[in-house]
Amino acid sequence: MIIILERDISDERHKRVLTALRTEGIVFSELPHKTGSIITARGKHGDDLETIRTMPGVAKVIPDNPPFKLASRNEHPDDTHVRVGPIVIGGERLTVIAGPCAIESREQAFTVAREVRKYGAVLFRGGAFKPRSSPYAFQGLGEKALKILAEIKTETGMPVVSEIVSTSYADMMAEYVDMLQIGARNMQNFDLLKCVGRLKKPVLLKRGLSATIEEWLMSAEYILAEGNNQVVLCERGIRTFEPYTRNTLDLSTIPVLKRLTHLPILIDPSHATGIRENVGPMARAAIAAGADGLIIEVHNEPGKALSDGAQSLFPEQFGKLMRDIYVIAPVVGRQVDFSYLEKSKIQEKKKTKKISAKHTAAFCGEPGTPAHKASEQYCGRDAALMQTSSYRETFDAVKNGLADYGVIPLQNSLSGSVHENYDLLLEYDLVITGEITLRVVHNLAVKQGASLNKIKRVLSEPAVFRQCRQYMDAHPDWEQVVTRDTTSAARLVKESSRKDTAAITTLEAAKLCGLSVLEEGIEINPRNYTHFVVVARKPENNGQKRKSSIVYQTVNRPGALFETLKVFSENKINLVKLESRPVEGEPCEWMFYVDLEADVSSPAFKPVLNELKKHVDYLKILGTY
Ligand code: PEP
Ligand code: MN
Repeated sequence: MIIILERDISDERHKRVLTALRTEGIVFSELPHKTGSIITARGKHGDDLETIRTMPGVAKVIPDNPPFKLASRNEHPDDTHVRVGPIVIGGERLTVIAGPCAIESREQAFTVAREVRKYGAVLFRGGAFKPRSSPYAFQGLGEKALKILAEIKTETGMPVVSEIVSTSYADMMAEYVDMLQIGARNMQNFDLLKCVGRLKKPVLLKRGLSATIEEWLMSAEYILAEGNNQVVLCERGIRTFEPYTRNTLDLSTIPVLKRLTHLPILIDPSHATGIRENVGPMARAAIAAGADGLIIEVHNEPGKALSDGAQSLFPEQFGKLMRDIYVIAPVVGRQVDFSYLEKSKIQEKKKTKKISAKHTAAFCGEPGTPAHKASEQYCGRDAALMQTSSYRETFDAVKNGLADYGVIPLQNSLSGSVHENYDLLLEYDLVITGEITLRVVHNLAVKQGASLNKIKRVLSEPAVFRQCRQYMDAHPDWEQVVTRDTTSAARLVKESSRKDTAAITTLEAAKLCGLSVLEEGIEINPRNYTHFVVVARKPENNGQKRKSSIVYQTVNRPGALFETLKVFSENKINLVKLESRPVEGEPCEWMFYVDLEADVSSPAFKPVLNELKKHVDYLKILGTY
């Protein structure tokens, strides 16, 4: 590795860099150079040297070329998306694989499959051939288990994952299984790696019990070198001196791998911890650390499991974990999509029947805006998205069949409601079929080389200025220029020749426009969430309905609103939003938009609806989702 120091580095900073190198145990030599001192070092790779890279006075660190090529991000800067049937691993939607350690019987496997499916798993796991430490322990049901897995796939729609332990089973495994797992003990079984490389099926490559990250990536390289780039890495704990956990879960591998490789990474907290109670905390931490998903062992009767019962979650615990990660994911820019599988199946059906609308979803704005990200997270990154220049145009695109869905912002936690969209929901005969909440981070971005003290003008959209009010108040001299969205702000800065202009924009848009970010996270409060709804022409059967949106106008008499709310209260229906909008042309008359935690289209809700109708002049069901 080569470390280049700044030309005018102070003696003190210079000394600090050399001391840090010695502390890290790095052998180095220094060559004075006219553009700054150059240090050549041996013994570690660049990525272990983040501390050196970020030290004041260090201009650049050039890492040694890693020995893995095809797996390296240098060769392939964009993230690889691995497709297992309709599921994409490595996109914005997190992938959760769940199921028992081993398939023990048809009944056990189906029970667990139905449960994990209900709670939001998108792929099903289950061992057919078990590599066990003891030859006397349960070895798996073999082909019988594979047949059960294939049946589960047909019934639940979940593609199935199972471990391949020998090249001699390759054809048999390939017939039944959608994704082949290489277990920890086989990570360096090079014949097996080459074999799954040739099978061209997606591979889940577990980290070996005592493998370094480099050895692990070299194993991935074996698969990639056979022309199969559908490889997902899976950290499942490494062996250390610590007996309180089965293994030690190396979560630090996530940011390291994100830099080193383009391959997705899943975390297996079950084998890492070995104890049920520790699975949830580690799974939550993995998502917070940026993993692309999880693989979790779940059993209907863990006490009777033939393998790994102690670490298997009860189905309800798995359900609780899914709810937890649903909350955590948007904080780190990801999503858990409970109707992922149903939505993907609808998309697949459309593709085969060729009846798809031209675009999957329409959104208002340019690529890089939060609305674009919400559309990608809802429909998948491969979906055909359509840009519009107004919310009305988005509604029209769906109404006229140009797009299947419209992705519409309704509310932001800092700047409030997008009133226009409430009115459009009332005006158009579209239905809400889904929702998505996105954390929005605002950044001050400028042309390369521009500096903070030279800024005179800032471009962004009005709601964004409100979301960054404190930051803007601290710079009262800056002129605020309104743009249509955050990406157009970034684009205008890029196209302008002025270096005194900045954009408040997303990191994605700054990157797209080649801007550098001077300040990150300038919103008033980091808990800045925008809530989008997804509208379509007709309701969709995309899984369990948890929520409904309705709008009504109360009769004009005292206590009328209270009477409507009493109906919900008496029926123990949780109300999660109440928003009012004036009725056009009728002063002092209001429409109330209500979100409920109930499926208002279900027969069970009918009596509640009838009761509600007694207190309203007008009622429209906007959608259940
Ligand atoms: C398993 O997934 O059941 C398994 C045996 O995993 P590992 O190879 O990580 O031990
Ligand atoms: Mn297991």
